[in-house]
Amino acid sequence: ATNFGMQNALNILGVKDINDGTSTGSNNFSNGDVLESYSPVDGQLIAKVATTTVEDFEKVMDAATKAFKIWRLMPAPQRGEIVRQFGDKLREKKQALGKLVSYEMGKSYQEGLGEVQEMIDICDFAVGLSRQLHGLTMHSERPGHRMYEQYHPLGVVGIISAFNFPVAVWSWNTALAWVCGDVCVWKPSEKAPLCGIACQNIAAEVFKANNLPEGISCLINGDYQVGELMTKDKRIPLISATGSTRMGKIVAQEVAKRLGRSLLELGGNNAIIVTPDADIKMTVIGAVFGAVGTAGQRCTSTRRLIIHESIYDKVKTALTDAYKQLRIGNPLDEKNHVGPLIDTDAVKMYQNALAKVVEEGGKLIVEGGVLQGEGYESGCYVKPAIAEAKPEFKIVQHETFAPVLYLLKYTGEVENAIEIQNNVAQGLSSAIMTNNLREAERFLSVAGSDCGIANVNIGTSGAEIGGAFGGEKETGGGRESGSDAWKVYMRRQTNTINYTTSLPLAQGIKFDL
Ligand code: NAD
Repeated sequence: ATNFGMQNALNILGVKDINDGTSTGSNNFSNGDVLESYSPVDGQLIAKVATTTVEDFEKVMDAATKAFKIWRLMPAPQRGEIVRQFGDKLREKKQALGKLVSYEMGKSYQEGLGEVQEMIDICDFAVGLSRQLHGLTMHSERPGHRMYEQYHPLGVVGIISAFNFPVAVWSWNTALAWVCGDVCVWKPSEKAPLCGIACQNIAAEVFKANNLPEGISCLINGDYQVGELMTKDKRIPLISATGSTRMGKIVAQEVAKRLGRSLLELGGNNAIIVTPDADIKMTVIGAVFGAVGTAGQRCTSTRRLIIHESIYDKVKTALTDAYKQLRIGNPLDEKNHVGPLIDTDAVKMYQNALAKVVEEGGKLIVEGGVLQGEGYESGCYVKPAIAEAKPEFKIVQHETFAPVLYLLKYTGEVENAIEIQNNVAQGLSSAIMTNNLREAERFLSVAGSDCGIANVNIGTSGAEIGGAFGGEKETGGGRESGSDAWKVYMRRQTNTINYTTSLPLAQGIKFDL
């Protein structure tokens, strides 16, 4: 791993190179089969990781439940102080971790750094939150009574994450869960296990320096079967799962069987509506970044452009011109815009989508294709493609996790575009490009976008920490990160205290002895 100083980054993060044996990181419970992590950047084996067996998992749960008993007693602002230190450690290791994200997952180094910045931002947010875990106080109907509600930690929070945000999603959950007094067990994607080890090592350093048990943060490695150990486990009151809708449907049912709580962050099929009043230059930048950023592998990637017929040709030409400028190659090299897909299976899905759209009557106006030759040895580099399509095409209704953008035409009023936009199973991110106040407000109104995120004059991709993040319908309904997302990590208790010498009953019920 000599790629752009990768070896140095691996050393800083305590992630072993393939030549140094199997990487377990600070978490040393895992003894199972070996998982190999290949980089989509150059196809090289970065390292091997031991997976978690059922017996290992028991040890992890034991460490986590013991740690919870200590952690929950620490006042929330003091837990916030630990999260503050964790954020500082991330600042120190930002370049190294950003590089590993880029190398193991394939997103650009800039986006890798952005992901670590998101981790830092959520830590800052959580530190402030640690002094704001408020409940309400109510007026009791009974004299001499006080009524209020308080929030207590839940216990062990299970986190299952996707490959495309291999570090940020974990931190959105942990930073909040930790200030709330929970401990976390994390199963990262089997496609990016080294990112998990690097994060665990950073967390472990902070807990160790504060004489706290490492069980506050636990890591388990492996595929869906290791994830199932958590979804089926009654000792885990909350499962936060990020990934495909297919996975979410299974996880939701599994957790519901034991009446556990689940927080689901699933697939999107995000659209930008482009009205006659749109600023075309902004539209093109927003749409291109949205469609090709992270090689189209963001849950908020722009998949559909719904363009008014009067400006359709103009937008189409501007987009095809912009696509000619795109440089595809090693994402660690900052002159490239687009890196590889995660693996060759993803390449097959991309090719399949291009074939399907043509089969259904669509037309490729920017042809895709798999890149070959020097620098593309991993077989994971593809050309971003644009297809003219119809909203009802099956492939357009489906989330293809690759840089394929569908151009759809609408006529008449903005309501027609909103209808096309909402007429998919997913409900994550949406946007409108317009300088027309009436159109913008109609898009945001009760009859407007049905998504969890609705933007005006911003693309669909990229969110800030302060707002709650998540989506409706088959996106799963969960909310993470900002606003009051913390509440899902806690249990609410209503307390009524009687400071009189009599015992009046609610609703004036009489019961005399
Ligand atoms: P995936 O569903 O294949 O895997 C996600 C995780 O779920 C992995 O860790 C996997 O091992 C685990 N898993 C799969 N089946 C499981 C089961 N039955 N029980 C327990 N765990 C199981 O998804 P992926 O390919 O890694 O990620 C891409 C998907 O994630 C896309 O659909 C994308 O939109 C979505 N995503 C959503 C958000 C969001 O916030 N809404 C964020 C990132 C990614």
